[in-house]
Amino acid sequence: MPAKTGKQYVERLKRAKSSVYIHGEKVDDVTVHPAFRNVIRSMAALYDRQYEKPEKMLYRSPTTGQPVGMTFIQPTTIEELIARREATQEWARLSAGMMGRSPDYLNAEVMAMGVANDLFAEDDPMFAENAKNYYEYARENDISLTHTLIHPQMNRAKALHEQKDADVPLHLVERRKDGIIVSGIRLLATQGGITDEILVFPSTVKKSTSSEDPYALAFAIPNNTPGVKFICREAFDYGRSAWDHPLAARFEEGDAIVSFENVFVPWERVFVCGNSSICNRTFRETNAVIHMSHQVVAKNIVKTEFLLGVTLCLIEAIGIGEFQHVKDKGTEIMLVLETMKSHLYRAEHNAKRDRWGTMTPDFAALDAARNWYPRIYPRLSEIIRILGASGLMAIPTEADFHNEEIGDIVRRAMQGATVDGYERVQLFRLAWDLTMSAFGARQTHYEYYFFGDPVRMGMAYFDGYEKEPYKQFVREFLCTAKSVFIPSDSKS
Ligand SMILES: Cc1cc2nc3c(=O)[nH]c(=O)nc-3n(C[C@H](O)[C@H](O)[C@H](O)COP(=O)(O)OP(=O)(O)OC[C@H]3O[C@@H](n4cnc5c(N)ncnc54)[C@H](O)[C@@H]3O)c2cc1C
Repeated sequence: MPAKTGKQYVERLKRAKSSVYIHGEKVDDVTVHPAFRNVIRSMAALYDRQYEKPEKMLYRSPTTGQPVGMTFIQPTTIEELIARREATQEWARLSAGMMGRSPDYLNAEVMAMGVANDLFAEDDPMFAENAKNYYEYARENDISLTHTLIHPQMNRAKALHEQKDADVPLHLVERRKDGIIVSGIRLLATQGGITDEILVFPSTVKKSTSSEDPYALAFAIPNNTPGVKFICREAFDYGRSAWDHPLAARFEEGDAIVSFENVFVPWERVFVCGNSSICNRTFRETNAVIHMSHQVVAKNIVKTEFLLGVTLCLIEAIGIGEFQHVKDKGTEIMLVLETMKSHLYRAEHNAKRDRWGTMTPDFAALDAARNWYPRIYPRLSEIIRILGASGLMAIPTEADFHNEEIGDIVRRAMQGATVDGYERVQLFRLAWDLTMSAFGARQTHYEYYFFGDPVRMGMAYFDGYEKEPYKQFVREFLCTAKSVFIPSDSKS
Protein backbone atom coordinates (compact mmCIF):
# COMPACT_ATOMS: atom_id res chain seq x y z
CA MET A 1 0.00 0.00 0.00
CA PRO A 2 1.39 3.46 -0.83
CA ALA A 3 1.81 6.28 1.70
CA LYS A 4 -1.51 7.27 3.20
CA THR A 5 -3.54 10.45 2.76
CA GLY A 6 -5.12 12.50 5.51
CA LYS A 7 -8.49 10.98 4.71
CA GLN A 8 -7.11 7.47 5.10
CA TYR A 9 -5.51 8.43 8.42
CA VAL A 10 -8.86 9.66 9.74
CA GLU A 11 -10.78 6.65 8.39
CA ARG A 12 -8.41 4.23 10.09
CA LEU A 13 -8.86 5.98 13.44
CA LYS A 14 -12.63 5.90 12.99
CA ARG A 15 -12.59 2.18 12.24
CA ALA A 16 -10.12 1.27 14.99
CA LYS A 17 -12.36 2.35 17.86
CA SER A 18 -9.49 2.13 20.36
CA SER A 19 -10.36 2.48 24.04
CA VAL A 20 -9.69 6.17 24.69
CA TYR A 21 -10.85 7.94 27.85
CA ILE A 22 -10.88 11.65 28.58
CA HIS A 23 -12.59 13.86 31.17
CA GLY A 24 -13.97 10.74 32.85
CA GLU A 25 -15.69 9.37 29.76
CA LYS A 26 -14.99 6.80 27.09
CA VAL A 27 -14.68 8.38 23.65
CA ASP A 28 -16.88 6.87 21.00
CA ASP A 29 -15.13 8.38 17.97
CA VAL A 30 -11.93 10.39 18.46
CA THR A 31 -12.18 11.93 14.99
CA VAL A 32 -15.24 13.98 15.99
CA HIS A 33 -14.57 14.46 19.72
CA PRO A 34 -13.78 18.12 20.58
CA ALA A 35 -10.58 17.16 22.43
CA PHE A 36 -9.06 15.39 19.44
CA ARG A 37 -10.72 16.43 16.19
CA ASN A 38 -8.57 19.53 15.60
CA VAL A 39 -5.22 17.86 16.15
CA ILE A 40 -6.43 14.94 14.03
CA ARG A 41 -7.15 17.48 11.27
CA SER A 42 -3.59 18.79 11.64
CA MET A 43 -2.19 15.26 11.48
CA ALA A 44 -4.30 14.62 8.38
CA ALA A 45 -2.78 17.75 6.82
CA LEU A 46 0.69 16.24 7.35
CA TYR A 47 -0.32 13.07 5.53
CA ASP A 48 -1.92 15.11 2.72
CA ARG A 49 1.30 17.07 2.33
CA GLN A 50 2.94 13.80 1.23
CA TYR A 51 0.90 13.99 -1.98
CA GLU A 52 1.01 17.79 -2.34
CA LYS A 53 4.82 17.64 -2.45
CA PRO A 54 5.58 14.06 -3.49
CA GLU A 55 9.05 14.94 -4.79
CA LYS A 56 10.00 15.98 -1.26
CA MET A 57 7.82 13.73 0.88
CA LEU A 58 7.82 10.35 -0.90
CA TYR A 59 10.30 7.83 -2.30
CA ARG A 60 10.00 4.44 -3.99
CA SER A 61 9.71 1.52 -1.61
CA PRO A 62 12.77 -0.74 -2.03
CA THR A 63 10.52 -3.81 -1.78
CA THR A 64 7.29 -2.90 -3.62
CA GLY A 65 8.23 0.14 -5.72
CA GLN A 66 5.20 1.96 -4.30
CA PRO A 67 5.56 5.60 -3.18
CA VAL A 68 6.15 5.52 0.60
CA GLY A 69 6.91 8.22 3.18
CA MET A 70 10.37 9.80 2.89
CA THR A 71 10.61 9.93 6.68
CA PHE A 72 10.78 6.10 6.71
CA ILE A 73 13.82 5.98 4.41
CA GLN A 74 16.99 4.16 5.36
CA PRO A 75 19.40 6.83 4.12
CA THR A 76 22.50 5.40 2.47
CA THR A 77 24.03 8.67 1.23
CA ILE A 78 24.38 12.17 2.67
CA GLU A 79 21.97 13.36 -0.03
CA GLU A 80 19.32 10.92 1.24
CA LEU A 81 19.96 12.00 4.82
CA ILE A 82 19.40 15.61 3.81
CA ALA A 83 16.31 14.64 1.81
CA ARG A 84 14.87 12.95 4.91
CA ARG A 85 15.62 16.06 6.99
CA GLU A 86 13.97 18.30 4.40
CA ALA A 87 10.82 16.16 4.63
CA THR A 88 10.93 16.52 8.43
CA GLN A 89 11.25 20.30 8.16
CA GLU A 90 8.45 20.45 5.60
CA TRP A 91 6.17 18.77 8.15
CA ALA A 92 7.53 20.88 11.03
CA ARG A 93 6.65 24.09 9.20
CA LEU A 94 2.97 23.06 9.06
CA SER A 95 2.76 23.21 12.86
CA ALA A 96 5.57 25.75 13.44
CA GLY A 97 7.36 22.90 15.26
CA MET A 98 4.54 22.56 17.82
CA MET A 99 3.83 18.89 17.09
CA GLY A 100 6.68 17.03 18.70
CA ARG A 101 5.14 13.76 17.58
CA SER A 102 4.65 14.38 13.92
CA PRO A 103 5.05 10.85 12.50
CA ASP A 104 8.68 11.34 11.41
CA TYR A 105 9.96 11.06 15.00
CA LEU A 106 8.97 7.42 15.40
CA ASN A 107 9.38 6.57 11.72
CA ALA A 108 13.09 7.21 12.27
CA GLU A 109 13.02 4.93 15.32
CA VAL A 110 11.39 1.94 13.58
CA MET A 111 13.71 2.36 10.61
CA ALA A 112 16.85 2.29 12.79
CA MET A 113 15.68 -0.65 14.90
CA GLY A 114 14.44 -2.54 11.87
CA VAL A 115 17.75 -2.24 10.06
CA ALA A 116 20.20 -2.53 12.97
CA ASN A 117 18.41 -5.48 14.50
CA ASP A 118 21.31 -7.80 15.52
CA LEU A 119 21.00 -6.72 19.14
CA PHE A 120 17.51 -8.21 19.39
CA ALA A 121 18.88 -11.55 18.09
CA GLU A 122 20.99 -11.98 21.25
CA ASP A 123 18.02 -13.72 22.89
CA ASP A 124 16.49 -15.29 19.79
CA PRO A 125 16.99 -14.65 16.04
CA MET A 126 13.19 -14.37 15.79
CA PHE A 127 13.29 -11.00 17.58
CA ALA A 128 15.68 -9.50 15.01
CA GLU A 129 13.48 -10.78 12.20
CA ASN A 130 10.46 -9.23 13.95
CA ALA A 131 12.12 -5.81 14.10
CA LYS A 132 13.04 -6.01 10.42
CA ASN A 133 9.51 -7.06 9.44
CA TYR A 134 7.92 -4.39 11.60
CA TYR A 135 9.91 -1.63 9.88
CA GLU A 136 8.75 -2.92 6.54
CA TYR A 137 5.13 -3.23 7.72
CA ALA A 138 5.11 0.29 9.22
CA ARG A 139 6.68 1.82 6.10
CA GLU A 140 4.48 -0.02 3.60
CA ASN A 141 1.27 0.74 5.51
CA ASP A 142 2.29 4.23 6.68
CA ILE A 143 1.45 3.27 10.26
CA SER A 144 1.17 6.23 12.63
CA LEU A 145 2.76 5.57 16.00
CA THR A 146 2.88 6.67 19.58
CA HIS A 147 5.34 5.25 22.07
CA THR A 148 5.65 4.71 25.77
CA LEU A 149 8.96 4.25 27.52
CA ILE A 150 8.64 4.95 31.22
CA HIS A 151 7.01 3.43 34.27
CA PRO A 152 4.73 5.37 36.64
CA GLN A 153 6.61 7.49 39.18
CA MET A 154 5.38 5.68 42.33
CA ASN A 155 8.63 5.61 44.33
CA ARG A 156 11.72 6.50 42.30
CA ALA A 157 13.99 5.60 45.25
CA LYS A 158 13.14 1.93 44.74
CA ALA A 159 13.57 -0.52 41.87
CA LEU A 160 10.44 -1.68 40.04
CA HIS A 161 10.26 -5.06 41.80
CA GLU A 162 10.60 -3.32 45.19
CA GLN A 163 7.57 -1.06 44.72
CA LYS A 164 4.68 -1.39 47.19
CA ASP A 165 2.55 -2.65 44.31
CA ALA A 166 5.10 -4.17 41.97
CA ASP A 167 2.36 -5.12 39.50
CA VAL A 168 1.64 -1.49 38.56
CA PRO A 169 4.59 -1.04 36.16
CA LEU A 170 4.05 -2.87 32.86
CA HIS A 171 5.38 -6.41 33.26
CA LEU A 172 5.44 -9.85 31.73
CA VAL A 173 2.64 -12.08 33.03
CA GLU A 174 3.08 -15.18 30.92
CA ARG A 175 5.02 -16.62 27.99
CA ARG A 176 2.78 -18.69 25.74
CA LYS A 177 3.40 -20.70 22.63
CA ASP A 178 1.91 -18.01 20.41
CA GLY A 179 3.01 -14.89 22.29
CA ILE A 180 3.18 -13.13 25.64
CA ILE A 181 0.66 -11.70 28.10
CA VAL A 182 1.52 -8.35 29.67
CA SER A 183 -0.18 -6.21 32.32
CA GLY A 184 0.44 -2.88 34.01
CA ILE A 185 0.85 0.80 33.26
CA ARG A 186 3.19 2.85 31.08
CA LEU A 187 3.60 6.62 30.64
CA LEU A 188 3.37 8.97 28.84
CA ALA A 189 2.09 8.42 25.33
CA THR A 190 1.95 11.73 23.47
CA GLN A 191 -0.74 11.39 20.81
CA GLY A 192 -1.89 8.22 22.62
CA GLY A 193 -5.27 7.26 21.18
CA ILE A 194 -4.90 9.10 17.87
CA THR A 195 -2.38 6.83 16.17
CA ASP A 196 -2.71 3.38 14.63
CA GLU A 197 -0.27 1.58 16.88
CA ILE A 198 1.82 1.91 20.02
CA LEU A 199 5.48 1.07 20.48
CA VAL A 200 6.40 -0.10 23.95
CA PHE A 201 10.12 0.33 24.40
CA PRO A 202 12.58 0.81 27.28
CA SER A 203 13.67 4.25 28.45
CA THR A 204 16.35 5.96 26.40
CA VAL A 205 18.11 7.06 29.61
CA LYS A 206 17.23 4.95 32.65
CA LYS A 207 19.13 1.68 33.00
CA SER A 208 17.79 -1.46 34.66
CA THR A 209 19.40 -4.40 36.42
CA SER A 210 18.59 -8.07 35.82
CA SER A 211 16.24 -8.02 38.85
CA GLU A 212 13.99 -5.87 36.65
CA ASP A 213 13.93 -8.37 33.78
CA PRO A 214 10.15 -9.01 34.06
CA TYR A 215 9.67 -5.33 33.19
CA ALA A 216 12.19 -5.31 30.34
CA LEU A 217 10.02 -5.46 27.24
CA ALA A 218 9.85 -4.09 23.73
CA PHE A 219 6.92 -4.71 21.40
CA ALA A 220 4.48 -3.02 19.02
CA ILE A 221 0.72 -3.54 18.91
CA PRO A 222 -2.34 -1.87 17.39
CA ASN A 223 -3.95 0.69 19.70
CA ASN A 224 -7.21 -1.23 19.59
CA THR A 225 -5.69 -4.45 20.96
CA PRO A 226 -8.09 -5.87 23.58
CA GLY A 227 -7.09 -4.80 27.10
CA VAL A 228 -5.29 -1.58 26.08
CA LYS A 229 -6.75 1.68 27.41
CA PHE A 230 -5.54 5.24 26.79
CA ILE A 231 -6.35 7.53 29.72
CA CYS A 232 -5.78 11.03 28.38
CA ARG A 233 -5.05 14.12 30.41
CA GLU A 234 -7.54 16.97 30.11
CA ALA A 235 -7.40 18.68 26.74
CA PHE A 236 -5.81 22.11 26.33
CA ASP A 237 -7.86 22.64 23.18
CA TYR A 238 -10.90 24.28 24.72
CA GLY A 239 -12.88 24.28 21.49
CA ARG A 240 -12.24 27.99 20.91
CA SER A 241 -11.41 29.54 17.54
CA ALA A 242 -7.93 29.45 16.04
CA TRP A 243 -7.93 33.27 16.32
CA ASP A 244 -8.30 33.07 20.10
CA HIS A 245 -6.08 29.99 20.58
CA PRO A 246 -3.89 29.94 17.47
CA LEU A 247 -1.84 26.93 18.58
CA ALA A 248 -3.98 24.98 21.07
CA ALA A 249 -6.91 24.94 18.67
CA ARG A 250 -4.80 23.12 16.08
CA PHE A 251 -1.82 21.32 17.55
CA GLU A 252 -2.84 20.00 20.99
CA GLU A 253 -1.36 16.51 20.75
CA GLY A 254 -2.48 15.23 24.13
CA ASP A 255 -0.60 12.91 26.50
CA ALA A 256 -1.97 9.62 27.81
CA ILE A 257 -1.40 7.08 30.54
CA VAL A 258 -1.56 3.64 28.94
CA SER A 259 -3.09 0.71 30.78
CA PHE A 260 -2.53 -2.91 29.73
CA GLU A 261 -4.85 -5.52 31.24
CA ASN A 262 -3.74 -9.04 30.33
CA VAL A 263 -2.88 -7.93 26.83
CA PHE A 264 -1.84 -10.61 24.35
CA VAL A 265 1.15 -9.70 22.17
CA PRO A 266 1.88 -12.24 19.41
CA TRP A 267 5.53 -13.31 19.15
CA GLU A 268 5.94 -11.65 15.75
CA ARG A 269 5.38 -8.27 17.44
CA VAL A 270 7.89 -8.83 20.26
CA PHE A 271 11.46 -7.47 20.01
CA VAL A 272 12.70 -7.89 23.59
CA CYS A 273 11.21 -10.16 26.22
CA GLY A 274 12.50 -10.04 29.81
CA ASN A 275 16.06 -8.94 29.12
CA SER A 276 17.23 -5.73 30.85
CA SER A 277 20.66 -5.91 29.29
CA ILE A 278 19.23 -5.70 25.75
CA CYS A 279 16.76 -2.99 26.79
CA ASN A 280 19.58 -0.88 28.28
CA ARG A 281 21.39 -0.95 24.93
CA THR A 282 18.43 -0.72 22.56
CA PHE A 283 18.44 2.95 21.61
CA ARG A 284 22.22 3.38 21.50
CA GLU A 285 23.32 0.16 19.80
CA THR A 286 20.71 0.37 17.04
CA ASN A 287 21.62 4.03 16.44
CA ALA A 288 17.89 4.82 16.86
CA VAL A 289 18.79 7.62 19.25
CA ILE A 290 20.92 9.22 16.53
CA HIS A 291 18.21 9.14 13.87
CA MET A 292 15.59 10.38 16.34
CA SER A 293 17.95 13.18 17.41
CA HIS A 294 18.37 14.14 13.76
CA GLN A 295 14.60 14.58 13.48
CA VAL A 296 14.46 16.50 16.78
CA VAL A 297 17.21 18.95 15.87
CA ALA A 298 15.71 19.54 12.41
CA LYS A 299 12.26 20.13 13.94
CA ASN A 300 13.63 22.41 16.65
CA ILE A 301 15.39 24.60 14.11
CA VAL A 302 11.99 25.27 12.54
CA LYS A 303 10.51 25.86 15.99
CA THR A 304 13.26 28.34 16.89
CA GLU A 305 12.75 30.16 13.58
CA PHE A 306 9.11 30.54 14.55
CA LEU A 307 9.93 31.76 18.07
CA LEU A 308 12.34 34.28 16.60
CA GLY A 309 9.70 35.46 14.11
CA VAL A 310 7.13 35.90 16.87
CA THR A 311 9.67 37.83 18.98
CA LEU A 312 10.62 40.15 16.10
CA CYS A 313 6.97 40.85 15.21
CA LEU A 314 6.19 41.55 18.85
CA ILE A 315 9.16 43.93 19.19
CA GLU A 316 8.06 45.81 16.09
CA ALA A 317 4.39 45.88 17.08
CA ILE A 318 4.99 47.84 20.27
CA GLY A 319 8.03 49.84 19.18
CA ILE A 320 10.60 48.47 21.64
CA GLY A 321 13.25 47.59 19.05
CA GLU A 322 15.69 50.37 19.94
CA PHE A 323 16.09 49.44 23.59
CA GLN A 324 19.46 47.83 24.22
CA HIS A 325 18.29 44.89 26.34
CA VAL A 326 15.51 44.15 23.86
CA LYS A 327 18.04 43.79 21.04
CA ASP A 328 20.19 41.65 23.29
CA LYS A 329 17.28 39.29 23.98
CA GLY A 330 16.51 39.05 20.27
CA THR A 331 20.19 38.23 19.77
CA GLU A 332 19.96 35.41 22.31
CA ILE A 333 17.30 33.71 20.18
CA MET A 334 19.28 34.34 16.98
CA LEU A 335 22.35 32.73 18.56
CA VAL A 336 20.35 29.65 19.54
CA LEU A 337 19.03 29.35 16.00
CA GLU A 338 22.44 29.71 14.39
CA THR A 339 24.05 27.30 16.86
CA MET A 340 21.37 24.66 16.19
CA LYS A 341 21.89 25.07 12.44
CA SER A 342 25.63 24.57 12.92
CA HIS A 343 25.04 21.38 14.93
CA LEU A 344 22.81 20.08 12.14
CA TYR A 345 25.30 20.98 9.41
CA ARG A 346 28.13 19.22 11.24
CA ALA A 347 25.94 16.20 11.94
CA GLU A 348 24.98 15.80 8.29
CA HIS A 349 28.29 16.65 6.65
CA ASN A 350 30.30 14.40 8.98
CA ALA A 351 27.79 11.56 8.56
CA LYS A 352 29.22 8.07 7.98
CA ARG A 353 27.73 4.76 6.92
CA ASP A 354 27.26 2.48 9.93
CA ARG A 355 27.84 -1.27 9.76
CA TRP A 356 24.32 -1.82 8.47
CA GLY A 357 24.90 0.56 5.56
CA THR A 358 22.78 3.40 7.01
CA MET A 359 24.17 6.90 6.50
CA THR A 360 24.32 7.97 10.13
CA PRO A 361 24.72 11.56 11.29
CA ASP A 362 27.66 12.55 13.50
CA PHE A 363 26.25 11.85 16.94
CA ALA A 364 28.67 14.18 18.76
CA ALA A 365 26.97 17.15 17.10
CA LEU A 366 23.43 15.87 17.65
CA ASP A 367 24.11 14.73 21.20
CA ALA A 368 25.34 18.21 22.13
CA ALA A 369 22.26 19.77 20.53
CA ARG A 370 19.78 17.38 22.15
CA ASN A 371 21.34 17.94 25.57
CA TRP A 372 21.48 21.71 25.16
CA TYR A 373 18.10 22.59 23.66
CA PRO A 374 16.02 21.38 26.65
CA ARG A 375 18.14 23.64 28.85
CA ILE A 376 17.84 26.70 26.61
CA TYR A 377 14.22 26.37 25.47
CA PRO A 378 12.73 27.68 28.76
CA ARG A 379 14.87 30.81 28.27
CA LEU A 380 13.44 31.37 24.76
CA SER A 381 9.95 31.20 26.18
CA GLU A 382 10.96 33.52 29.04
CA ILE A 383 12.30 36.12 26.59
CA ILE A 384 8.94 36.32 24.82
CA ARG A 385 7.24 36.66 28.19
CA ILE A 386 9.59 39.45 29.31
CA LEU A 387 9.25 41.40 26.07
CA GLY A 388 5.47 40.93 25.82
CA ALA A 389 4.86 42.15 29.38
CA SER A 390 1.26 43.32 29.99
CA GLY A 391 0.49 42.72 26.33
CA LEU A 392 0.38 39.00 27.09
CA MET A 393 -2.45 39.52 29.56
CA ALA A 394 -4.29 42.35 27.82
CA ILE A 395 -5.60 39.91 25.26
CA PRO A 396 -9.29 40.38 24.50
CA THR A 397 -10.89 37.64 22.44
CA GLU A 398 -11.99 38.07 18.85
CA ALA A 399 -15.59 38.33 20.04
CA ASP A 400 -14.73 41.48 22.02
CA PHE A 401 -13.79 43.22 18.77
CA HIS A 402 -17.22 42.42 17.35
CA ASN A 403 -19.17 43.64 20.37
CA GLU A 404 -21.02 46.87 19.57
CA GLU A 405 -20.37 48.45 22.96
CA ILE A 406 -16.69 47.63 23.44
CA GLY A 407 -15.39 46.79 19.95
CA ASP A 408 -14.08 50.29 19.24
CA ILE A 409 -12.63 50.63 22.73
CA VAL A 410 -10.50 47.50 22.43
CA ARG A 411 -9.49 48.37 18.88
CA ARG A 412 -8.16 51.76 20.05
CA ALA A 413 -6.75 50.53 23.36
CA MET A 414 -4.84 47.69 21.76
CA GLN A 415 -3.32 49.54 18.82
CA GLY A 416 0.42 49.14 18.39
CA ALA A 417 3.26 51.09 16.80
CA THR A 418 2.89 49.44 13.42
CA VAL A 419 -0.37 47.46 13.66
CA ASP A 420 -3.97 48.17 14.55
CA GLY A 421 -5.55 46.80 17.69
CA TYR A 422 -7.07 43.76 16.03
CA GLU A 423 -3.79 42.66 14.45
CA ARG A 424 -1.81 43.37 17.61
CA VAL A 425 -4.05 41.25 19.80
CA GLN A 426 -3.95 38.41 17.29
CA LEU A 427 -0.15 38.48 17.42
CA PHE A 428 -0.03 38.71 21.21
CA ARG A 429 -2.51 35.87 21.58
CA LEU A 430 -0.13 33.78 19.50
CA ALA A 431 2.81 34.78 21.75
CA TRP A 432 0.70 33.93 24.83
CA ASP A 433 -0.36 30.55 23.43
CA LEU A 434 3.26 29.81 22.60
CA THR A 435 4.55 30.51 26.09
CA MET A 436 1.94 31.05 28.81
CA SER A 437 -1.33 29.28 28.09
CA ALA A 438 -1.73 25.67 29.22
CA PHE A 439 -0.64 24.74 25.68
CA GLY A 440 2.42 27.02 25.87
CA ALA A 441 3.43 25.80 29.34
CA ARG A 442 3.21 22.23 28.07
CA GLN A 443 5.49 23.10 25.15
CA THR A 444 8.16 24.20 27.63
CA HIS A 445 7.63 21.08 29.74
CA TYR A 446 7.70 18.91 26.62
CA GLU A 447 10.96 20.34 25.29
CA TYR A 448 12.54 19.89 28.72
CA TYR A 449 11.49 16.29 29.30
CA PHE A 450 10.38 14.45 26.18
CA PHE A 451 13.78 12.91 25.41
CA GLY A 452 14.36 11.92 29.04
CA ASP A 453 15.42 13.67 32.23
CA PRO A 454 17.99 16.30 31.14
CA VAL A 455 19.85 15.92 34.44
CA ARG A 456 20.46 12.22 33.93
CA MET A 457 21.07 12.75 30.22
CA GLY A 458 23.68 15.34 31.23
CA MET A 459 25.30 12.89 33.67
CA ALA A 460 25.51 10.25 30.94
CA TYR A 461 26.90 12.87 28.58
CA PHE A 462 29.61 13.83 31.08
CA ASP A 463 30.52 10.20 31.72
CA GLY A 464 30.67 9.35 28.02
CA TYR A 465 32.57 12.45 26.89
CA GLU A 466 36.13 11.87 25.69
CA LYS A 467 37.89 13.94 28.37
CA GLU A 468 41.46 12.72 28.21
CA PRO A 469 42.71 14.99 25.36
CA TYR A 470 41.67 18.09 27.30
CA LYS A 471 43.29 16.96 30.53
CA GLN A 472 46.42 16.04 28.61
CA PHE A 473 46.41 19.50 26.98
CA VAL A 474 46.51 21.10 30.42
CA ARG A 475 49.12 18.68 31.76
CA GLU A 476 51.42 19.50 28.85
CA PHE A 477 50.75 23.21 29.30
CA LEU A 478 51.70 22.96 32.98
CA CYS A 479 54.94 21.21 32.03
CA THR A 480 55.96 24.12 29.80
CA ALA A 481 55.04 26.54 32.59
CA LYS A 482 57.38 24.68 34.99
CA SER A 483 60.39 25.08 32.75
CA VAL A 484 60.34 28.91 33.00
CA PHE A 485 60.15 28.99 36.81
CA ILE A 486 63.20 30.64 38.39
CA PRO A 487 63.46 30.14 42.17
CA SER A 488 63.87 33.48 43.92
CA ASP A 489 67.12 32.54 45.75
CA SER A 490 68.85 31.70 42.43
CA LYS A 491 68.40 35.32 41.27
CA SER A 492 70.86 36.76 43.84
C1 LIG B 1 4.88 16.75 27.74
C2 LIG B 1 5.55 15.41 27.86
C3 LIG B 1 5.35 14.47 26.87
C4 LIG B 1 5.94 13.21 26.98
N1 LIG B 1 5.73 12.27 26.01
C5 LIG B 1 6.22 11.03 26.15
C6 LIG B 1 5.94 10.00 25.20
O1 LIG B 1 5.27 10.21 24.20
N2 LIG B 1 6.43 8.77 25.45
C7 LIG B 1 7.17 8.48 26.55
O2 LIG B 1 7.56 7.34 26.71
N3 LIG B 1 7.46 9.42 27.46
C8 LIG B 1 7.00 10.68 27.29
N4 LIG B 1 7.27 11.63 28.24
C9 LIG B 1 7.94 11.23 29.48
C10 LIG B 1 9.41 11.52 29.52
O3 LIG B 1 10.09 10.47 28.87
C11 LIG B 1 9.79 11.61 31.00
O4 LIG B 1 9.18 12.77 31.54
C12 LIG B 1 11.27 11.68 31.22
O5 LIG B 1 11.89 10.51 30.80
C13 LIG B 1 11.61 11.86 32.73
O6 LIG B 1 11.07 10.79 33.44
P1 LIG B 1 9.99 11.02 34.59
O7 LIG B 1 9.00 12.01 34.11
O8 LIG B 1 9.51 9.71 35.02
O9 LIG B 1 10.78 11.74 35.75
P2 LIG B 1 11.36 11.06 37.06
O10 LIG B 1 12.32 10.00 36.67
O11 LIG B 1 10.26 10.63 37.93
O12 LIG B 1 12.14 12.29 37.70
C14 LIG B 1 11.49 13.27 38.55
C15 LIG B 1 12.54 14.21 39.11
O13 LIG B 1 13.42 13.47 39.98
C16 LIG B 1 14.76 13.49 39.52
N5 LIG B 1 15.29 12.11 39.61
C17 LIG B 1 14.56 10.95 39.63
N6 LIG B 1 15.38 9.89 39.69
C18 LIG B 1 16.64 10.37 39.66
C19 LIG B 1 17.93 9.76 39.67
N7 LIG B 1 18.08 8.44 39.72
N8 LIG B 1 19.01 10.57 39.60
C20 LIG B 1 18.88 11.91 39.54
N9 LIG B 1 17.68 12.55 39.53
C21 LIG B 1 16.59 11.79 39.60
C22 LIG B 1 14.70 13.96 38.07
O14 LIG B 1 15.86 14.70 37.69
C23 LIG B 1 13.44 14.83 38.04
O15 LIG B 1 13.76 16.15 38.41
C24 LIG B 1 6.73 12.91 28.12
C25 LIG B 1 6.94 13.88 29.11
C26 LIG B 1 6.36 15.11 28.99
C27 LIG B 1 6.60 16.12 30.09
